[in-house]
Amino acid sequence: MSELAYPYEAPASQALFDRAAAVTPGGVNSPVRAFRAVGGTPRFMVSGTGPYLTDADGREYVDLVCSWGPMILGHAHPEVVAAVQEAVARGTSFGTPAEGEVALAEAMVERVAPLEEVRLVSSGTEATMSAIRLARGFTQRTKVIKFAGCYHGHVDSLLAAAGSGLATFALPDTPGVTGAQASDTIVLPYNDLDAVHAAFAAHPGEIACVITEASPGNMGVVPPLPRLNQGLKDACAAHGALFVSDEVMTGFRTSRAGWYGVEGVVPDLMTFGKVMGGGFPAAAFGGRADVMAHLAPAGPVYQAGTLSGNPVATAAGLAQLRLLDEAAYDRINATSRRIQSLVTEALGKEGVAHTLQTASNMFSVFFTDGPVRNYEDAKAQESFRYTAFFHSLLSQGVYLPPSSFESWFVSTAHDERAVQRIADALPAAARAAAEATA
Ligand SMILES: *Cc1c(COP(=O)(O)O)cnc(C)c1O
Repeated sequence: MSELAYPYEAPASQALFDRAAAVTPGGVNSPVRAFRAVGGTPRFMVSGTGPYLTDADGREYVDLVCSWGPMILGHAHPEVVAAVQEAVARGTSFGTPAEGEVALAEAMVERVAPLEEVRLVSSGTEATMSAIRLARGFTQRTKVIKFAGCYHGHVDSLLAAAGSGLATFALPDTPGVTGAQASDTIVLPYNDLDAVHAAFAAHPGEIACVITEASPGNMGVVPPLPRLNQGLKDACAAHGALFVSDEVMTGFRTSRAGWYGVEGVVPDLMTFGKVMGGGFPAAAFGGRADVMAHLAPAGPVYQAGTLSGNPVATAAGLAQLRLLDEAAYDRINATSRRIQSLVTEALGKEGVAHTLQTASNMFSVFFTDGPVRNYEDAKAQESFRYTAFFHSLLSQGVYLPPSSFESWFVSTAHDERAVQRIADALPAAARAAAEATA
C-alpha cells in the first residue's frame, strides 16, 4: 500500500518510524502497531486526553482503540492521574508486599464472584501462561484445548491459530515454538461443542484445561453462542479438567464483573489484564481457592515477578476500578450502541456487505455477510474494504484498530463532540469501502 494512495502524509510520524526501524525490529514493540495490515505510516502519539489522541504531526484523532481496551475512562483521566502521581511520589517499586496490591485484589474479588483468590502479574501473557501452568500442576495432566482465533498473549503453547496479530499477518505458526510445546495444544474451531466432546473422548485423562476468551475479541468480535461457555464448563467438570476463562480483554469492560457478569458461567480459573491496570502493566489470574492454593509459596507450582503488584500500577488500576460503577457501564454501552448504529447506517446506505457483531460494548465490523461464528468465517471477510474504510476515517481524525481482526473500544469520555466527528466521517469512509478493490 503506497502512501500516495491517500491524500495526506504524516511526516513527523514517518521520521520517528524511520528512527525506530533502525533500533527496533519493524519499528514497533508490538506487531499490529506497525500498520502492516492496512499500510501507511503508523501514527506516533504524543498525548492523549479524554477520547482524543494527538500525533507527532499535531493531528487529533477520536480514539476507538483505547490502548486495546485499558483506557476505559479515556486518556489522562484526572482522578487516575492524581492517584498515579500520589503513588509515584511514595516510591515506584519496593520488592515487598504493599497495601495497594491487597486493595486491588480485594476490589477484583468483590466484583467477580468466582474469583476467590487472585495473583497479580504484569501482563496478560504472564497471566495466561501462569494459569496454564497451574492447571497442569493441579490436574497433573499435560494437554490444553484452545480455540482457533482466540488470542491468549504470546505464550509458546498458545500461539497456535491465535488470531489478533497472527491473524493480521496470516502466520500459521511461529518459528521458535517447539513441536513439543505445540503438540500439547489441541486447537479446535470456536463455537463448536461437538469438537470439544470429541477431543475429550480422544484423549481420556490427558486434558488439563480448556482455555477460551470469555467472549473473543481477537478475531474481531465473535461472541459465544448461548450454551457454549456453560457447555465448556460442563465438559471440563465431567472429565476432571479445569475451565479457564480468559477475561484479559472482557474483564471489567463488558460489565462491572466482566463477561462473567454478562453470562454467569463460573470458571475454575480466570485471567485479567487491560482495564484492571489503568494503562499500566498490571494483570492477574485467579479463581477457585483450592486450585490457587497450589501456587507458590502456598503450594508447589512456581510463579513469581519482580514488578508483580507494582505500587504505581495497582494505584492506577484501583483508581480506575473505583470509577467504574454501573452508571459508567451504562454510559459506555449507550455510546457504543450509538456508534454501532452510525456505522451500520453508513455502510447500509452504500450497500456494502457487512456484519457488525457485539459483545456488550465491544464491537467490530466484518466486511462479509454474516454471521461470523469462528475464525474461518472471520478470515472470509473482504479485508481490503476495511483498509479503505480505516484510511478514510484516519484522514478525517478517527482512529480505528489498524486491522480488521480487532475489537473497537469506547470509553466513558466519548462525548457528543467525539461521536459527532465519527458521524461526520462515516459517509465518506463507507463510500471508500464500497469503492475499494482487492
Ligand atoms: C491482550 C490479551 C492478552 C495478552 O495480554 P498482554 O498484556 O498483551 O500480554 C491475553 N488474552 C486476551 C484475551 C487478550 O485480549
